[in-house]
Amino acid sequence: MAQPAPEKVDRKARSQLPAVTAQVRPPDERVRDFDEILILHTPEEAIAEASRCLQCANAPCQQACPLHNDIPHAMERLAAGDFLGAAAVYRRTNPLSEVCGRVCPERFCQDACTLKRLDKPLDTRRLEAFTATFARTLAGMPTPEIAPSSGKRVAIVGAGPAGLTVAEKLTCMGHTAVVFEHHPHPGGMMLYGIPRFKLGLEIVEAKLAWLEALGVEIRCNVSVGRDISLPQLLAEYDAVFLGAGAQEQYRADLPGETLEGAYDATQFLCRANLPAELLPEAWRAPLQVGARVHIIGGGNTAIDCMRTALRLPGVQEVTCYYRRSVQEMPAEPEEYRHVLEEWGNFVWLTCPAEFLGDAEGRLRAITYQRMRLCAPDESGRCRPECVPGHEITLEADTAVLALGYRPNKQLLASVPELRLGRGGVVEVDAPETGRTSVPGLFAAGDVVHGANLLAPAVAHATGVAQAIDEYLRA
Ligand SMILES: Cc1cc2nc3c(=O)[nH]c(=O)nc-3n(C[C@H](O)[C@H](O)[C@H](O)COP(=O)(O)OP(=O)(O)OC[C@H]3O[C@@H](n4cnc5c(N)ncnc54)[C@H](O)[C@@H]3O)c2cc1C
Repeated sequence: MAQPAPEKVDRKARSQLPAVTAQVRPPDERVRDFDEILILHTPEEAIAEASRCLQCANAPCQQACPLHNDIPHAMERLAAGDFLGAAAVYRRTNPLSEVCGRVCPERFCQDACTLKRLDKPLDTRRLEAFTATFARTLAGMPTPEIAPSSGKRVAIVGAGPAGLTVAEKLTCMGHTAVVFEHHPHPGGMMLYGIPRFKLGLEIVEAKLAWLEALGVEIRCNVSVGRDISLPQLLAEYDAVFLGAGAQEQYRADLPGETLEGAYDATQFLCRANLPAELLPEAWRAPLQVGARVHIIGGGNTAIDCMRTALRLPGVQEVTCYYRRSVQEMPAEPEEYRHVLEEWGNFVWLTCPAEFLGDAEGRLRAITYQRMRLCAPDESGRCRPECVPGHEITLEADTAVLALGYRPNKQLLASVPELRLGRGGVVEVDAPETGRTSVPGLFAAGDVVHGANLLAPAVAHATGVAQAIDEYLRA
């Protein structure tokens, strides 16, 4: 935790300094392209904003950060204009600082800031983004010290944030990390999920190039379970890390769901956001998107699909249909604010019943069922139920189903001794150590927690790398 120095800090004076919050581009401008919407602080603005930090003794921001970044110390360095020093503070705990500063929700460090109770919280997330990007562009990313080779080899399934974090940490500890990645390019949901206007491609690419230079071997287009089995990896390597995420999408299982023009969220996001060379062969044809786009779901992915659709040429109207109401919607408030600014529409208490096509098999309309809310279910949210006789059919050119993700059942079933929990996630002894029921097999990230967020995946993967190191040296 941060070392408090209350006698040196005039908290009252600092709390009265004006906030210098990073802005996003105006909605009318940003919906015209896929460039990042965030406008980073200038160095002068970053110094001014960091100077507001109250250096709280109990550092609530640091406690709320899944990675426990030493935010007060980073703010102290930033306020002194020592940008590289601040970047080094973040790097100690966060190997994906540049990414997290852009995609973390407000509810971690920022909402915990003491200044939130007085006025505006410190812009902690965006200061992290500024610091990491400024340091990378100014000085590059420094190469860490690498321990002498242990002669041990670890197979890592999945090149997402969890797998890449484990690969980085193990390489620095002197082990050989070989990453097996199903997609044509590494990055996981950082690339094949999060849209480019939230996280620029060059940020992910810079990190990947750095990992490659560090000596991490990533074998793309290799699907574990299809091209090589999990038991084979367990036999051939000294340990295996499972970072396969939660990539399997829930389906609606409704008539017409496979009509041309009806997409699942991942395919839609990837094809709209990524250059063709990063896509699997089958997804390289341009998307056929019409004027009226229907997005089905109420989570962050649904909002990302809406905002992506709003940026596509020819689209006139993007509407999200959600079976509960705005109060139950799981999307982050900031994401909801952004899509409203970009003219996305919402229809609540509405659930699709059937997708209707024309003679050529193309989507033309969707029949929706009116819902009402009943008593809360096990998730604590009010359960939706159909209102009989209330249906409506609406014209649609494109539908995107964003109904949530779960881990891949087939991959996990290939090791019968692997204990699974509710929702098909991998059971581990503790998130920070990630030992599964199979000796030598470790797991972290979305494959353990279900579809979640990036910072917890990185935090747990960091702890698991330590546990793998201990296992290899035992
Ligand atoms: C659309 C979308 C938007 C998001 N937005 C945000 C956001 O704004 N902020 C935030 O914090 N989080 C966000 N997330 C969540 C975040 O991206 C994930 O929580 C995080 O990426 C999980 O990391 P992971 O490494 O566990 O899994 P993943 O990122 O899913 O990576 C798993 C990797 O394993 C690979 N893989 C899977 N099966 C196999 C196999 N059999 N063989 C080989 N490789 C395999 C996959 O191809 C993938 O590369 C978003 C997610 C989505 C889908």
